[in-house]
Amino acid sequence: MSIMGRQPIRWGIGIDVGGSSIKSGLVGEDGTVEAFAQHRLERVDEAGLLLNAISGEATRARQQAEALGFEVAGVGVCAPGSLETATGIIHKAPNLPGLDRLPLRDRLTEALAGPIHLANDVNAAALGESCFGAGQGHRHFAMVALGTGIGGGLILDGRLYTGAAGFAAEIGHIVVDPDGPACPCGNVGCLERYAGAAGIVETARRLLADGDIESPLAALPEDRLTPEHISEAAAAGDALSRQVLAETGRWLGIAFITLINLLDPECIVLGGGVAQAGAPLFDAIRSTLEGRTMSSTARSVPVVAARLGTQAGMVGAGALALWPERG
Ligand SMILES: [Zn+2]
Repeated sequence: MSIMGRQPIRWGIGIDVGGSSIKSGLVGEDGTVEAFAQHRLERVDEAGLLLNAISGEATRARQQAEALGFEVAGVGVCAPGSLETATGIIHKAPNLPGLDRLPLRDRLTEALAGPIHLANDVNAAALGESCFGAGQGHRHFAMVALGTGIGGGLILDGRLYTGAAGFAAEIGHIVVDPDGPACPCGNVGCLERYAGAAGIVETARRLLADGDIESPLAALPEDRLTPEHISEAAAAGDALSRQVLAETGRWLGIAFITLINLLDPECIVLGGGVAQAGAPLFDAIRSTLEGRTMSSTARSVPVVAARLGTQAGMVGAGALALWPERG
């Protein structure tokens, strides 16, 4: 815990506001995390309570930094939803209705009497992976986070790329089937409809209903089935679950071909709970990429597992506070 004997480093306060909990900590320039805390959010529908929770965590982290003699560079906050960079307003945050359309940057700047650096949660995770994780040493890569939805983040030329208004990297809404099912975004056949949590479960239900392959998943009540069950069963050798992950990986691979042809990235970093499924998923992605991308260099773009796990957003928010010019 002591940094005595080493050069003093600067620290960023990182705060990750999620749909069920808030994580915060001090992120050092060397990637060290100190004073990490995670608290449940009892209410996510009231702006006042959420703002109090965020400023409370920032104050706690600042006090801990003072006690440790750390120099704090600033505060970074990330949350799900589309963040409009010019206004600091988050749009479409279904898991955090209290933050939807709230002038978050202004309200936090007021509450904390200082500048606040904001990012979408997966954009922050991409920056975290870029500074201290699987993206280290890469100037150009895409981060894809698999969860209830599919989030994306782009690091281009060593910086987070957020687009004209801040809404870039909606990788989950790349169309993989123009005749596919409707997506809540208004389009049809988006990647998220196939490789988001609900899409994965749908694939499993379809294969179970086919009845061609016996599976322990058949013993679970249909409405209880989750991607975690499928990953666990696949790891235990269940052929049907492996088939589900293979189909999921194929859809991801089809979307990644667009990413590779568009961006020429050095790698694609895959994170989020479903990515824990490991080989059955990654192998299907890689075999889909083989032979479908344009050049021999594109064919060898590695798809690698994220390294910062559930702390990625918090670490990235802290990194944004340390290096705002990378945001
Ligand atoms: Zn969509």
